[in-house]
Amino acid sequence: MSNEVTPKSDHFIRQIIKEDIANGKHGGKVVTRFPPEPNGYLHIGHAKSICLNFGLAKEFGGKCNMRFDDTNPVKEDVEYVDSIMEDVRWLGFDWEGDALFASDYFDTLYDYAVKLVRDGKAFVCDLTAEEMREHRGTPTTAGRESPYRIRTVKENLDLFERMKAGEFDEGERTLRAKVDMASPNFNMRDPVMYRISKAHHHRTGNKWCIYPMYDFTHGQSDSIEGVTHSICTLEFENHRPLYDWYLENLEIFHPQQIEFARLELNYIITSKRKLLQLVKDDHVFGWDDPRMPTLCGLRRRGYTPAALRNFCETVGVAKYNSTVDYALLNHCLRDDLNKTSARVLAVLNPLKVVITNYPEGETDELDAINNPEDVSAGTRKVPFSKTLYIEQEDFMEDPPKQFFRLAPGREVRLRYAFFITCNEVIKDENGNVTELHCTYDPETRGGDSPDGRKVKATLHWVSAEHAIEAEVRLYEHLFLKEDPNDVEDGQDFTSNLNPNSLTVIANAKVEPSMKDASAGTRVQFERLGYFCVDSDSTEDKLAINRTVTLKDAWVKVQQQQGQGMQGQKKKQQRPS
Ligand code: ATP
Ligand code: MG
Repeated sequence: MSNEVTPKSDHFIRQIIKEDIANGKHGGKVVTRFPPEPNGYLHIGHAKSICLNFGLAKEFGGKCNMRFDDTNPVKEDVEYVDSIMEDVRWLGFDWEGDALFASDYFDTLYDYAVKLVRDGKAFVCDLTAEEMREHRGTPTTAGRESPYRIRTVKENLDLFERMKAGEFDEGERTLRAKVDMASPNFNMRDPVMYRISKAHHHRTGNKWCIYPMYDFTHGQSDSIEGVTHSICTLEFENHRPLYDWYLENLEIFHPQQIEFARLELNYIITSKRKLLQLVKDDHVFGWDDPRMPTLCGLRRRGYTPAALRNFCETVGVAKYNSTVDYALLNHCLRDDLNKTSARVLAVLNPLKVVITNYPEGETDELDAINNPEDVSAGTRKVPFSKTLYIEQEDFMEDPPKQFFRLAPGREVRLRYAFFITCNEVIKDENGNVTELHCTYDPETRGGDSPDGRKVKATLHWVSAEHAIEAEVRLYEHLFLKEDPNDVEDGQDFTSNLNPNSLTVIANAKVEPSMKDASAGTRVQFERLGYFCVDSDSTEDKLAINRTVTLKDAWVKVQQQQGQGMQGQKKKQQRPS
């Protein structure tokens, strides 16, 4: 698959890179990185960062490293490492050589720390976490210096060495940078560089019992890798002075940090901690539940890499936080699926139709177009026989004026097949319609009448004896509110979960061409939406997820909000 996207906007990061290249900065080189912490699965927000970092490197002939910022052994796991690499590749990106790990730099980082100690710029502190908080000050008052700040270099070197050797307990001592306790920026108030943690690390095992803080790791890892443009989200803006301080005092290569706004969408949550809570507390079936905004969830649901890449490009890159309408994502998705999905006939809620004038035991093979958007996709045969299924909602015994589909005495077209007329309605003892008796007109084979007779509706259908059984899963947003974090006092975001986010249709019928469809196959069920075959499928029964309906709410949202929208949501709008 090609991972080309057409650049839609000359956003500010692109401009910075172009200028740097023009000015010969870094010898015109572009090196970026995607630096997740392996403490959860990737979500759609990460897709934005992946597309930016890998995309820009590709666009400017540079390279993008896959790097894990694995500084917190307690929360990290190889399961996450593997899933992250799989998701990045699925999105259509790859990296040169092996993935990199900040933990591979632990030795170098330790040496860096020793240098700062030697230079009198770091000290071992014995304050407890609680005492450190008390010393930290407030936004309007300066903090107090630690009494241990005046330790000699010699004593600090000795203590730090012994921290590393495991002589002290967790929480007993830390290594801190001597920056400025009076700085208005809390990150600069003698931040902790190393903490004691006797945890097993997923890569370094039990080698270390001290671990560098994220802030003492991230910037230096970029530096070690020669990252030219260190692209990160806005919450790191006020960490930048600290990163700069470390890089300057260590006298090492200084990457340029550029911050952009996180991608946020309405109706979803993009905090890994909260996504983990949904999984752990069984609100969903797993990280890859098709309702999850994780990349593996979106993949299972049927979202395509191309749609996600186009979405990220369409949204653009902003300096201020805003929320994007989920309808725009689905618009990009439909745009891609429309071009690439084979059309299939399927009936979700079957109503039996007997064609009384069709010979028993016979079958007619009719030609059906695979994709009207793509002639090269060709045609296929769909079988027609005496007993068929149509959608229950395509029939009304007593139809109102605007209902043009099947009704007693009325003629409609069956897609690719024949005109049929409903003559008789069969009901059970409770008065529910169980079966329709219809006649077909053999002259209308293919769906056109030779005498120019018109019908007002074309219905999808499936031949009963040929149909494949399927369980179809229909989805709504996982949360009821546009902002899932908007909660009453004392409640958390799970109080906004949508009890109807999943509807299971147990006995859907699908045309036989889907017989050997493998998990991940994406199709359009005509008139019903785009669907994707699930890995839960068995020999006897397909499991199928509805990816998205056919109706595009984004077009309507755009009309209501006026032209010129670039995906930023100006007004709170509910996609229908
Ligand atoms: P958490 O969910 O715990 O806040 P995180 O989403 O920041 O964590 P990381 O693993 O640190 O998770 O993210 C990896 C990279 O992806 C970082 O560079 C981060 O800035 C970026 N990123 C994360 N979330 C988004 C988002 N919503 N939009 C754009 N980039 C994001
Ligand atoms: Mg983070």
